[in-house]
Amino acid sequence: MFVKKWSLILKIAVTGLIGITSFLGDTCLKYTQTAVTRAFLDNVTHAIVSALTWILILILSKKSLVQNLDGIFFSFALSSFIDVDHFLSARSWKLSDATNLTKRPFLHCTTVPILLWLILILISKALNYPSLNQCSWIVSASFLSHHIRDGTRRVPHTIAQSQ
Ligand SMILES: [Zn+2]
Repeated sequence: MFVKKWSLILKIAVTGLIGITSFLGDTCLKYTQTAVTRAFLDNVTHAIVSALTWILILILSKKSLVQNLDGIFFSFALSSFIDVDHFLSARSWKLSDATNLTKRPFLHCTTVPILLWLILILISKALNYPSLNQCSWIVSASFLSHHIRDGTRRVPHTIAQSQ
């Protein structure tokens, strides 16, 4: 009974933390002065939200957080890494070039994580390599948490443009 209640409290707490982190990250972005600070804060928020998302998945799967610290860190780093495509698409390491693209860069296309997930799952099954299976789910969670956060922030901007 106590274990079930503790598990439910933990699920609610981590879900709440994902929301609070996103809200705080977005709120702080409104008050930051420099582009470098905004980029850093945005990137760190993506990374933390992704790590918390993977933690929530581990809790829901009844897996140990301690034994899966590498997966949590991988999720943190991968979600942060996704934004490197801004620089690759801009073909420049200048932040001003990377943040003023006319279209979304390639790692922000949701087909990429779906294909990666599929390829990793198939390789995992073909080679009987279970850790690659876990990796495919971390990739999915990291990309999707990043894309969903980017997407929800884009909605008011899109609505404002259409008016
Ligand atoms: Zn992004």
